[in-house]
Amino acid sequence: MSGDIKHSGRIAWQRALLVGAIYFVAASATIVSTRFGGGVAMLWIATAILLAELSLSTTRHWVPPLVTCGIASFIATSLFGFGITAAIPLVAINLTEAVIGAVLLRRLHHRSGPLATLHDVGSFVIAAGIVAPALTAFGGASVATALGGPFWSNWLSWFAGHALGTIAFAPIVASVMRSEIGRSPKPVKLRPFVENAIMIVLIATTDLLVFAFSNQPLLFLPILVVMVATIWRGQFGAGASIIMLALIGGSFTIAGIGPIRASQETIEGAVLFFQFYLAVTVLTVLPVAADLTRRKVLHKDLLASEARYRLVTENSSDLILNLDLTGRILYASQASGDIDGNGTGDLIGKYGVDLVLDADREATQKVYSQAVAHPDQTFTAEYRGFAVAGETRWFETRCRGVIDNAGQVAGVVSSIRDISDRKRLEAQLAHEAATDFLTGLPNRRTFMRRLQGMTPDALNRAPGCVAIVDLDHFKAINDRYGHQVGDQILKRFAQCALNVLRGVDVVARIGGEEFGLIFHGANIDQATAICERLRSQVEATDFAKPDSSSPIHVTISAGVAELGPDSAIGQALAAADAALYRAKAAGRNRLVQAA
Ligand code: GH3
Ligand code: MG
Ligand code: MG
Repeated sequence: MSGDIKHSGRIAWQRALLVGAIYFVAASATIVSTRFGGGVAMLWIATAILLAELSLSTTRHWVPPLVTCGIASFIATSLFGFGITAAIPLVAINLTEAVIGAVLLRRLHHRSGPLATLHDVGSFVIAAGIVAPALTAFGGASVATALGGPFWSNWLSWFAGHALGTIAFAPIVASVMRSEIGRSPKPVKLRPFVENAIMIVLIATTDLLVFAFSNQPLLFLPILVVMVATIWRGQFGAGASIIMLALIGGSFTIAGIGPIRASQETIEGAVLFFQFYLAVTVLTVLPVAADLTRRKVLHKDLLASEARYRLVTENSSDLILNLDLTGRILYASQASGDIDGNGTGDLIGKYGVDLVLDADREATQKVYSQAVAHPDQTFTAEYRGFAVAGETRWFETRCRGVIDNAGQVAGVVSSIRDISDRKRLEAQLAHEAATDFLTGLPNRRTFMRRLQGMTPDALNRAPGCVAIVDLDHFKAINDRYGHQVGDQILKRFAQCALNVLRGVDVVARIGGEEFGLIFHGANIDQATAICERLRSQVEATDFAKPDSSSPIHVTISAGVAELGPDSAIGQALAAADAALYRAKAAGRNRLVQAA
């Protein structure tokens, strides 16, 4: 473990040494070529290198690059600049500039990736390109003044040179560092390599033409080339064209050649003009490069999201539909093979509602409208629809509104699942829960529910009665013939009751050998008459098996009560039960009306 730390520490210092070396080359080159009249350098790109490095790492990794770049700055200033004495404060000032820039960028939530948004560009220009060099220019100008130079002209040169250097070079340096340093090189592809080569030749030719071979004011031409390079090759194009413009334009202007030198009195004026020109070009191209990068990132994200979405929809057994605001199908996933029989292609252009059975259209249209009205929620409906070979099946649709770029609802995405099997199971379970297993009649729960369903309103319109029927001496029958025969008798009785009762009546098994009857629209005399028919029918029936030698006879007793609109159901049942009790007491095989 400690070996790992040492190892990563060594790599950090190796990287810092490389950064320091580049810093030294950049500092020395700009000091040698852009110091005029003993003042500060007019183009300073060394800070861009340190700033890029600091921006790419966390604060606790700042020490190695700060140390190596500090040493690099000291040597460069001592050898080529103001000398050893001035080098000490200048080291502090140069390092401070990069640190201020990096800290400010972090405060402004600047991300360390390529400049991809206008916020990135804006915060970068303000923090690293304006605030940091404006502050450190006071230090730089003070050193120059102490050595006998004019304060404000040195302040301006420092500010302009450092602002320009940082704005122009930090983004390209950072992008090179991100991709190159500490990473194994990618294999070079031929096509981009050739395109880059063509681009570099084009840029070099234009820059040379404008700055080396002409005194004509053709300064707009390199800007055009920078734009073309940016649009063509993105951040790399922007970086390469800016660096080449700075190198070619800068060196010829400093050498006293070209259109800028021709229009300016002094070489210092020409260099200042060139700095301004380069800064404006950089500020023009940065937002374009940023926007292109953002689009590239968006495009990549979009492709990834599209691929994920395809994977999900095409491997899902659900059908995914995209509907527009008129309900027309714009897209259908491949699972649609199950639905409507004719495959995905056929669904496109149809109306979603055409897949739904008339009876369920209202329900599906409701969830569609809800999804449009509340796009942040999912709405669900079950419906019957058309499946393969015109078969009707149950489906479940889950609908959600689709929001467009402008935040408006643009349509609905619907995920449809075949729930026929579930529906069948549900129906089966519901049937089992409501039915008596032996006789197939409704059970006690269903009987009570039916009774409760008879509202006072309905009973006001038409009378209703309830009866409780009990098989007489059934225990004795069981004892004599066996439990199985007893079961068969219960089943036969149920059949008998269904035959005698009218279609509107209800017969339910509410206990072992106890049955509940409901008579809709019958007064107590009519209900008693039906019960009497049942009683005499049972009495006359031989419940023995067809091949049996001896017949089995069974009788029933019943209590009948009226369901008045005002009387509670419990009361009516109790009254029927009391009447049944009296029928039993009076000798069985008879009916008694509740008092
Ligand atoms: P009563 O005339 O007073 O109604 O006499 P009973 O013997 O019918 O009355 P009791 O309530 O004492 O007995 C009911 C019997 O019904 C008891 C039980 O053995 C029988 N029984 C209840 N459920 C079933 C069933 O599912 N199958 C069969 N075979 N017998 C049942
Ligand atoms: Mg009984
Ligand atoms: Mg009983």
